[in-house]
Amino acid sequence: MRNRIFLKAMGAFVAVIAAATLTLDISIRHTWENAVHNDIEKLLVQNAQGFALRVENDHQHSLQQMAEEEARITETRVTIIARNGVVFADSEADAQTMENHAGRPEVVAALAGKIGSSSRVSHTVGIEFLYLAVPSGDKIVRLAYPLSSMQQQISSIRANLLRATILALLLALVLAAVIAEVISRRLRRIVRFAGQVAAGNLSARIAVTSGDEIGQVAMALDRTARRLEENFAAIRESRSELEALLNSMTDGVIAVSPDMKVRWANHAIAGILHQPVRIGVPVVELLRHPDFLATINEVLKSKRRESTIATSLSGRKSFSVTAEPLPDGGVVSVLHDISEIERVEKTRRDFIANVSHELRTPLTSIRGYSETLLESDGLLNDGARDFLQIIRRNAERMGRLTEDLLVLARVESGEEKLDLRPHSARILLAEAASSMQEDARAAQVELIIEEIPDWSVLADNYAVHQVFGNLISNALRYAQSGRKIVVGAHERQSGIEFFVRDFGPGIASEHLPRIFERFYRVDKARSRESGGTGLGLAIVKHIVLNHGGSVRVESSVGHGTTFFFLLPQV
Ligand code: ADP
Repeated sequence: MRNRIFLKAMGAFVAVIAAATLTLDISIRHTWENAVHNDIEKLLVQNAQGFALRVENDHQHSLQQMAEEEARITETRVTIIARNGVVFADSEADAQTMENHAGRPEVVAALAGKIGSSSRVSHTVGIEFLYLAVPSGDKIVRLAYPLSSMQQQISSIRANLLRATILALLLALVLAAVIAEVISRRLRRIVRFAGQVAAGNLSARIAVTSGDEIGQVAMALDRTARRLEENFAAIRESRSELEALLNSMTDGVIAVSPDMKVRWANHAIAGILHQPVRIGVPVVELLRHPDFLATINEVLKSKRRESTIATSLSGRKSFSVTAEPLPDGGVVSVLHDISEIERVEKTRRDFIANVSHELRTPLTSIRGYSETLLESDGLLNDGARDFLQIIRRNAERMGRLTEDLLVLARVESGEEKLDLRPHSARILLAEAASSMQEDARAAQVELIIEEIPDWSVLADNYAVHQVFGNLISNALRYAQSGRKIVVGAHERQSGIEFFVRDFGPGIASEHLPRIFERFYRVDKARSRESGGTGLGLAIVKHIVLNHGGSVRVESSVGHGTTFFFLLPQV
């Protein structure tokens, strides 16, 4: 890590420095060489022009003398040429032996009255010269500067420049190494700090001493760690508050993960199961109850709230189990102990059943004796006969009430097991209606059976008969004015829904929510008068619920009432 950052920074620095030095070196050297060349050329022009003036005016010295003298002073080769190209004098060669110079480019230019200049290797001397020729009266003077000495100067300057460049490069490298090391060290500190935070040490802090970009990154990370620590503390606090709250509950609360493992449970669960709860174990190892496990599975699948009653979940206790899906796919379930409620309910039911049972015999004998007395002629006067009839009617009513109470107690307790088998909905409907046909005729009501397809439902034949009996006799009793009752069924998503419809007075909407409660009557006097006990619909509801179905009612005052009950389809 250290090497990587350091080496990368160093690499970048070296590349930048080398590029800068190289560009600088190339451009400076080039400019400088040009400048040297120009300076020499300028000097040569000045010297040549001065010399041309002298040659023109000095008549005391020979041309050869003047050429040699000038050559000494200016450290150049000096040649004096006639306008026809013949060489008069030369400071370094014998003028007599030299060839005609009329064709030399610098001489050609000087003959045209200009300053001629040219660089080339001399035929006579054999080295490279910069030639410069100017007119001087009827002659041409030419100064030649050996380029080798100029190149010597240039190479010595070049060597100096190279040394300086290498020195600068070395210095820059040292500086770059120091800077790279400082940056790398600061980054390493940040990386170490970020590693600590990532590993969960949220109390780790980094001291920031600089405000540059690296410092800002460190500051931002520091702020993030601080905020994370605060948020985690807040979450921890609210979690422990929630745990304390859930642990204080008497109801058991258990959270299960999507793979059916125990994620959390409150203290009450351990109390209910008489064993400590181990987090992470499969829930089936902790709570091996089929109804409970089925409910959890159902919620995991459907992602909807489900509830059930789990009997004998812990010893002889019963619990109402409610399970809700959790946002992450798990399930949380609340187990509420209903053993005591069930015990009280059972005591109440038993009491009612016992009382009803005990009342049966005396009621039968009251009814029997009153009937016998009523049938015996001449034994009674008219007043006594009226009283006896009242006694008999009430004994019959009490008989019906005790019978209904017994039936309700049985269906409510669920003790009486239903004989559930697949039945044809059409046959169930036809049988129920035909057994009520006689009553309908007596009440002068038309009982219409709607034609339905041959659906199959899971039902107890006898119990469904009871349901139809109660609903049709209610319709006959309360809806005579309609003179018509329709029975039929419809297919629904969750099963087959049967209905009994009348066109009687209907039930006001405020009564509908309570109509299936036991002893709930819309018109008490009328119910009593017509022999009603107020238990018929409660019996209907419990029988249908025992089938796993549901009941509902629709009614409109003045137009009639329809009772519906749904049975599971096979
Ligand atoms: P009851 O023995 O009094 O008929 P039920 O439980 O069968 O008891 O019915 C409860 C009440 O619902 C009745 O008292 C009556 O007021 C009302 N009810 C039931 N069926 C009908 C109906 N088809 N039309 C109007 N009211 C009805």
